[in-house]
Amino acid sequence: MKKLVLLLLLIATTMQVAAEVTVEKLTWAGVKLVHEDTTVFIDAVGTDIWDGNAPGGLVPLTAETGRSYALITHAHNDHFDFAGLKEVLGERGYVIVHEDEATYVASRGLRVVPAKMWVPVARGGFLFTAVPAVDGFGDSQVSWVVSVDGKRYLHAGDTLWHGEWDKIGRQFGPFQMAFLPINGARVLRDPMPKSVASMTPMQAVDANILLRSNAILPIHYGLNDPPYYEEVSNSLELLLDEAMQRNVKVEALTPGQQLTHP
Ligand SMILES: [Zn+2]
Repeated sequence: MKKLVLLLLLIATTMQVAAEVTVEKLTWAGVKLVHEDTTVFIDAVGTDIWDGNAPGGLVPLTAETGRSYALITHAHNDHFDFAGLKEVLGERGYVIVHEDEATYVASRGLRVVPAKMWVPVARGGFLFTAVPAVDGFGDSQVSWVVSVDGKRYLHAGDTLWHGEWDKIGRQFGPFQMAFLPINGARVLRDPMPKSVASMTPMQAVDANILLRSNAILPIHYGLNDPPYYEEVSNSLELLLDEAMQRNVKVEALTPGQQLTHP
């Protein structure tokens, strides 16, 4: 009998340690993480802001767990869908957001947990830490380090290349996976700049190496609408090519596809 109790205890302990994380790519820059009874949305957009042409298709926002949280890197509408988040988070969910954007996000009727740069916020077994990013329009933007069950992820919104990757990598690495923008977009201004407003495929590979990340999940690509929005053409092929040459793993999930980390 004693042996049976011990065995059951051992199984229970093992099960607790081995709780897996499911990573699902959503539309555009969106990612959904599920661990035990908690769902975390990052830059999740379920509202059709692409007039029926969402790159890779529009994935609806759904949560099957008891708890759900949302993170946003910044408040541009391809990263912050207040109507969609309101619906999927319901009465109990929170948006965790850098303090600079907290008032704005709260003004859209969402419950907010403000976060300071480099200071972790603990919710539902997760730790969420805002780390530096640089927005292509000079707006407020952060990247998010998400830690759960010994696994760490980084979501980089649509940041420009910057000088903090190595510091983030030394502080939090190795990462299981980094969700990195790759489309090197130029967005219509007058005059149209030649410089890009989000990371290019080559820069994403550089960032992944400095982050000490095991793999890139490319986000924020597949939309070309000249002259208003011009991205690096063949961004995914360029990424795969660059990554292969430098021995970096890429998990190019399409929207709605998922993988699990045990
Ligand atoms: Zn964007």
